[in-house]
Amino acid sequence: MKYYIIKIIFILAIFFSQPVFAQSGKFGIVIHGGAGTIIKANMTPDREAEYIAKLNEALEAGHKILSSGGAALDAVNASINIMEDSPLFNAGKGAVLTEKGAAELDASIMDGKNLMAGAVAGVKHVKNPINLARLVMEKSPHVMMVGEGAEEFGKENNIEMVENSYFITKERWESYQRILKREEEKKKTEKHGTVGAVALDKHGNLAAGTSTGGMMMKKFGRVGDAPIIGAGTYANNNTCAISATGHGEYFIRLGVARDISALMEYKNLSLIDAASEVTVNKLGKLGGDGGIIAIDKNGNIAMPFNTSGMYRGYYLNNESPVVMIYKE
Ligand code: ASP
Repeated sequence: MKYYIIKIIFILAIFFSQPVFAQSGKFGIVIHGGAGTIIKANMTPDREAEYIAKLNEALEAGHKILSSGGAALDAVNASINIMEDSPLFNAGKGAVLTEKGAAELDASIMDGKNLMAGAVAGVKHVKNPINLARLVMEKSPHVMMVGEGAEEFGKENNIEMVENSYFITKERWESYQRILKREEEKKKTEKHGTVGAVALDKHGNLAAGTSTGGMMMKKFGRVGDAPIIGAGTYANNNTCAISATGHGEYFIRLGVARDISALMEYKNLSLIDAASEVTVNKLGKLGGDGGIIAIDKNGNIAMPFNTSGMYRGYYLNNESPVVMIYKE
């Protein structure tokens, strides 16, 4: 009897202690569709409208989940799936090509509630790499899986597989061919367009995810920052959630995403200050280009970048969605 009373008191204590940990009930999602040389003069009105519509669709999908009390992780996953399925972005369909002319995809996802994370790199037949990254997190004891092994694991768990040609759009193939002909421009070409999402749900949980085809003309086998936890993706309920885009090698060297979180955790910096210290000061000084999106545990957001543009947007609480492309 005494045992049961103690047990009931224990359960009640856990139950009533929840609101102490719960946050303000604020929620929101921030997304990006890549940073790079994105200039209004090079954009047709139709193309611009397509980007704006797709970014809004991705925001809506994530926000719908959050506003109905769903998990940040599900919101991030849903928004990224929409961008992966769109040929507009360098992730999933529409991914850039390696120097051998194939698509090799990287993705990662992280749950800020328990620091669980999953990542895949160099996969060639997984329709939505972010789904496989999530599967690695939820159904394996590992954090990262690559290439054939990752695909095998996906197949065992009924992940949707496609031919590599599914990812290769006419536009990407033509630009690959153009670059092949102009050998000397290979190094100068830096195609960005990675996609990412970060979210805070009503329960105070943060999540982050990033999915990419990497960089145009990358050596086959090259892995960027997107699937590296702490470089391109990071989430911790005590600080913030981050997804990066840009020249991955620099983001890996600086451990950009984790560094921002660490500045908040150890130095008590605000999200804005931590994000600009790492992206503007550190990344800029090292010569890396790109940007990040972030949301903190209180629902503050940051979207710094040092390129001419970054496809980005946010949809917070019951406000209206906002989408931006250029420096404005
Ligand atoms: N960060 C990605 C990579 O280096 C590329 C990008 O964001 O455009 O693979």
